[in-house]
Amino acid sequence: MAAECAAVILNGRYSRSSSAELLYAVNALFYLSYLFKAYQFFAFSAHLVKVSSVKPVIKWLFRSVWIASSVLVIFSFWWGTVFKIAERHGYTAGPLWFVIPACTVYYVVLSAVIVFTKRNRISTGDLMGAVGYNAVLLVCAVFRFFMPQNIILALVGFLAVLICYLSFEAPERYISERGAAFNKRAFKALLEESLENRTYRALGFVLRDYNDERVVYGSVQMDKGISLIIDYLHHKYPKHLIFYLRNGYFVIYDPEALNLYRIRDDLYERFSRPWQAYDTELFLSVAFIKVGAESNIDSADMLINNLTVAFEKAGQMALYGKDIYDLDSTKEIEEQARVKGALEYAVKNESVEVYLQPIIESKTETLVGAEALARIRGEDGKLISPADFIPIAERSGHINSLGEQVFETVCRFVNSNGFSRVKMEFVNVNLSPIQCMRADLSDRFLELLRQYKALPSRIHLEITEQSVGDSAMILKQVNKLRECGFQFALDDYGSGYSNLTRLKNYPFKTVKLDMEVVRNYCKNRDPLVLSLVNILKQMGYTITAEGIETKEMADTMRSIGCDYLQGYYYSRPVPIEEFVSKYAKM
Ligand code: C2E
Ligand code: MG
Ligand code: MG
Repeated sequence: MAAECAAVILNGRYSRSSSAELLYAVNALFYLSYLFKAYQFFAFSAHLVKVSSVKPVIKWLFRSVWIASSVLVIFSFWWGTVFKIAERHGYTAGPLWFVIPACTVYYVVLSAVIVFTKRNRISTGDLMGAVGYNAVLLVCAVFRFFMPQNIILALVGFLAVLICYLSFEAPERYISERGAAFNKRAFKALLEESLENRTYRALGFVLRDYNDERVVYGSVQMDKGISLIIDYLHHKYPKHLIFYLRNGYFVIYDPEALNLYRIRDDLYERFSRPWQAYDTELFLSVAFIKVGAESNIDSADMLINNLTVAFEKAGQMALYGKDIYDLDSTKEIEEQARVKGALEYAVKNESVEVYLQPIIESKTETLVGAEALARIRGEDGKLISPADFIPIAERSGHINSLGEQVFETVCRFVNSNGFSRVKMEFVNVNLSPIQCMRADLSDRFLELLRQYKALPSRIHLEITEQSVGDSAMILKQVNKLRECGFQFALDDYGSGYSNLTRLKNYPFKTVKLDMEVVRNYCKNRDPLVLSLVNILKQMGYTITAEGIETKEMADTMRSIGCDYLQGYYYSRPVPIEEFVSKYAKM
């Protein structure tokens, strides 16, 4: 445009006072850059609609019009083809001057055709932008035909550039409205670049139940909350790129290094505290998603789609706590959703079932008690393993209600005819550490005991070694329940960090050796287990060996002094009625 203005001014006012060489140079420069500009706009359109793999022959064919016109411009110096510089009269158009507007029209038409035929590849906004700059270029070319030496037209060309900038390149287009994070468009653009060398690595996280939370807290508060989260992320990770896609979807990105687990832990910790949005405290929870180069996805569109699906699912479903989900593991996500659905259904409809597994006195091989194990069913009626639903129940808080249902069923059972017919002493009920966090746990248990006129001495509560930990709350609850008359068993002993001194703080009556410990001992008689059993017995605990699957295992564990045995060798866990009919003494 500078060349164009210079040419128009020189040709008009200073044509007589300027040298012919200068006039030639300035006009040639103007026409060459003018032709190149037309071609560049066309190339830009092709790039916009993602026309990439074009054969070189075709490419040169498209370029040829611009190149041929440029040659004609250069030849003007000798033959006056496109323009002439005459003595005295200065600049005049040559016989082939029309190639200048014709070349522009040619590229504008090509550009319009390419945009129109590939319009489904771009957004409506981008299409409008493309229509805008092509229209401006066309109008300019037509006017140029009638007003070859017009300085205003030179400036109108700028409009096309401005439209391109505002439509496609303006930084604001890549910034999320909710705050100073990049938006989905930016993420997509970034992926398009980084997918090729597969270096990208990102952690996504989603605000759970985002739409519900917007209703609960109000949209103004939630928007503020999102800005606060973005600020927090910028502050905490100044080197990473932060994206806010929409609907509570965030992505933290770094092309080089991203410590997913550290960031996950930071966020997990931060989201355990509320966000202060004006006068409202927002309690938000998140689910994590890993976006990594290992996903065998090769287009940014597909990646964004999969990511959105994963975000949607993770936000609604059973992804709790610190688990990070892989885009590749949608199956796993679906399975968790199925289990969560079944769990919610069972808890709500009080259809949690209780199975009993016998506990056998090792010396006499007679039944002394049973362990109550929770069971729920999927929509297909098949049993779901507690290993799958207990962790979900613990993270979602459903464990409280589920545990109470199991406890209630056991209360009913220990005061029933069936219980007296099998002539056993106790039923073990598993207690999750999450249940112990409820201050009213013992009150609720006492209430149920009273309701079913059940004796607490008939119920033993099992808590796992891992949950004992250092928690003062759990110790307090255990002592409170002990005072109510319940006995305690330590479950899965030996599976974690076994600490004998800590045990002494708890009023356990029994220690249950973990299945793995039993299995390993039966294989290779580790003397450490033997001394452990001896020490525990000296400390006054009775010992139960879990996971007894064969007679040999039963004999081995009996021989080292285990008081009780439990395992498939005696019986798998069975429904209460089956248990009663199997063990009822006439
Ligand atoms: P746990 O308390 O250690 O229960 C023993 C688990 O070992 C049961 O698995 C039982 O079916 C299994 N088992 C028993 N004998 C054998 C054997 O000989 N071989 C093998 N391979 N396995 C055997 P289940 O019923 O799947 O329960 C798994 C865990 O889920 C339980 O481990 C317990 O921690 C938890 N759980 C079950 N019901 C409840 C409940 O009502 N509340 C709570 N908080 N947790 C529960
Ligand atoms: Mg147990
Ligand atoms: Mg166990």
